[in-house]
Amino acid sequence: MSVRAQVRRVWYKITSHPDVSPRLMGICLGADCEWTIGPTEDLMGVGEEMIGHTSETGHCRFQRFVEDEAVVSLTEEGERMRRVLRNRRELAEKTDSKSVLVARDRTRQRIAEVEAEHARAE
Ligand SMILES: [Zn+2]
Repeated sequence: MSVRAQVRRVWYKITSHPDVSPRLMGICLGADCEWTIGPTEDLMGVGEEMIGHTSETGHCRFQRFVEDEAVVSLTEEGERMRRVLRNRRELAEKTDSKSVLVARDRTRQRIAEVEAEHARAE
């Protein structure tokens, strides 16, 4: 699912985070029924359980809640690069931010070392 919107002449899009599975919860709307399911990442399982509940009780209406993690990003590559460059320039201009840049470089170096260790282990 993707939603696009223009805010101050900049295009943004909202998508579901690719590394976070959506979760689903269901509540039976049958009179005096307290049947619920989830929240769970097993979306097909929720549907199957709802069908099972309907076949057992005749209750056929459910309220569903879908939960996911949203990511807002710029749609334009050029605007994205302009912002990255501006942020780097601002970080470089701030004297107290130099330690942040050094820490970031150290983190990147450590990530590369861990990846190399994993590659050797495989
Ligand atoms: Zn029910």
